[in-house]
Amino acid sequence: MDKTSSGEAQLKLRLCKRCKHHYSPSSNIPTSCRFHPSFFVCRRHDDQKRYYELGPDDPTYAAKFYDCCGAEDVEAPGCTTSFHISYDEE
Ligand SMILES: [Zn+2]
Ligand SMILES: [Zn+2]
Repeated sequence: MDKTSSGEAQLKLRLCKRCKHHYSPSSNIPTSCRFHPSFFVCRRHDDQKRYYELGPDDPTYAAKFYDCCGAEDVEAPGCTTSFHISYDEE
């Protein structure tokens, strides 16, 4: 018998329900998961939390941003890091 040792390469990856990335439980550290704790919203920025100022000619829908950090790109990397969370745990 001549088995190829591919066992280690097939570690089960889990899917993080928060960032939707696959990860291996053995490398899940407190900075593995980057995410936004708040939602991506579409509204005017509060005056008290002015992350971005619309110009006079900007349409109001230009004000889309993460409520937590003010990132204006839905693809912006998360502003918070934590462990990944699999669908198995809560
Ligand atoms: Zn954020
Ligand atoms: Zn994650």
